[in-house]
Amino acid sequence: RFVSLEGGEGAGKTTVLNALGDALQAEGLEVVRTREPGGTPLAEMIRELLLDPRHEPAAPETELLLMFAARAQHVREVIAPALARGAWVISDRFTDSSHAYQGGGRGLDPGLIAGLERCVVGLQPGLTLLLDIGVSQGRERTRGRDLEFAGGAPDRIEGERDEFFERVRATYRARAAAEPERFRVLDASRPAAEVAAEAVARLQAWRSR
Ligand code: C5P
Ligand code: MG
Repeated sequence: RFVSLEGGEGAGKTTVLNALGDALQAEGLEVVRTREPGGTPLAEMIRELLLDPRHEPAAPETELLLMFAARAQHVREVIAPALARGAWVISDRFTDSSHAYQGGGRGLDPGLIAGLERCVVGLQPGLTLLLDIGVSQGRERTRGRDLEFAGGAPDRIEGERDEFFERVRATYRARAAAEPERFRVLDASRPAAEVAAEAVARLQAWRSR
């Protein structure tokens, strides 16, 4: 009963999260809606720490370890207890984000990330919806937002940023292709309401599999 939403900037994860949560709650089910990095007070503070402009940009390794520190807290404090009491959990991002951003984007060793996943997290979503969108379209949709960590830092020149996000997207798609049981890939270039409706249909199909 653990669902994660993944995808690049401007893919519409928030809209989809609300649609999935509403659909399940309409059946009277308990749903925990959460996000990463964050989801607990300590993990949200780690998110703010990463975004704080007063310090130098985080080194890739620093960013990776802080993401996993936040995730460990999130799993132990929120996700595992919710699943144990039978609630649904829908998370805006989970470990696939670290593979995509810190791995594909920032070039860290996939084996290291997989090792942290195994030792520090130890649990995976049953269903992961990848909201796939072209890099330039995503960039248009998020113009004006500034909640990016060092890998996609706004002070980077646009070409370099786009290459970073192309690597993120390619890593997501490769992971989805390698794990078709867990992943469903949605074309997120369509209007958000359409994507959300397909996401709900995919969730229901997965539940009755
Ligand atoms: O999910 P949301 O759009 O709020 O994420 C904000 C930013 O966090 C994204 O733009 C992405 O650059 C960054 N991020 C990251 N590594 C992660 C998760 C998110 O760099 N593991
Ligand atoms: Mg969002």
